[in-house]
Amino acid sequence: MATPDPGADRLRLVIVGGYLGAGKSTWLRHQLYAGAFPGARLIINEAAELAVDDALFGGRYPVTLLAGGCACCAGCPAFLDALRDLCDRRSREAGPDGRTSLAVLETSGLADPGAIAAALRADPMLAFHVTLAETIVLVDAQNAAAQLAAEPLGRAQVEAADRLVLTKTDLAAPADTARLVATLRRLNPAAPITADIRGEPAALPDMPSAAPLPLAQQDGAPILPVQITLPDGLDWAAFAVWLSALLSAHGQDIVRVKGTLRTPAGRLLLQGIRTHVQPPEILPDVPANDPLDGTPDRPPARDGTIVLIGRGIDTDRVTRSLARFAARLL
Ligand SMILES: [Zn+2]
Repeated sequence: MATPDPGADRLRLVIVGGYLGAGKSTWLRHQLYAGAFPGARLIINEAAELAVDDALFGGRYPVTLLAGGCACCAGCPAFLDALRDLCDRRSREAGPDGRTSLAVLETSGLADPGAIAAALRADPMLAFHVTLAETIVLVDAQNAAAQLAAEPLGRAQVEAADRLVLTKTDLAAPADTARLVATLRRLNPAAPITADIRGEPAALPDMPSAAPLPLAQQDGAPILPVQITLPDGLDWAAFAVWLSALLSAHGQDIVRVKGTLRTPAGRLLLQGIRTHVQPPEILPDVPANDPLDGTPDRPPARDGTIVLIGRGIDTDRVTRSLARFAARLL
């Protein structure tokens, strides 16, 4: 794990993922039209050799096309090369204002965004120059139930999401959509869920008692969020050592780590997917900008509170382990 670098002017990367046919291009096009990602460079990944999607963006945004290999596996080297290229070009662009500061990757429908994040973190140059800003995963309301039941990949995509967007809810019965929402909340309790039909926000069915779909357990324990509060006076570097040790011991069971902590350098946003923790980012002090705050699904988290999401995490054991570690230092 790197130490915080408040001066780092990193390229922010947004990953737009989702299963084949989830409507990623349509959603992205509408978002761009609405101005959601100003000045972004688009990286469009098609697993197939034939790439057609870039024509859809109509030349209004610069597009890098990656065809012939999925960015999470076979096409990963090409994806990392494209990002290195972009960082390189960025370093020659004038001043922070003229510089490309955002890239949006539309993944192939077969990509696991968690694997892309891991590849990014494993590359020392990119880990330093690129920050994963958000992973948005689109879920097709018409077909996701079947995909989640049959495909481990569908679940991996949902688990890796910072937020989930349901598409095609107009083509699914409200009761089915409500069960899907309950299932997604079980798989990824921290991700807010919204619905979008061809670029228009849509309401989710108001059926809070809907039961999740009976998905076969992959390894027995459901994925649940666990909150831990950091002991007062524990500094970032010490906490980073403890967290690295925890993740290397239990990283396959812990799918997400997220939280903010107060340090002498400022407020740090910490986030990780599986065993990979991003270099922490200094946050502005304005709570309104806090990505952890202000969504109905995600209650505001206080500084010094870390949320771990995973299978079979024992809150007491984790809290005791951290307290023991802190006691040796303080
Ligand atoms: Zn892949």
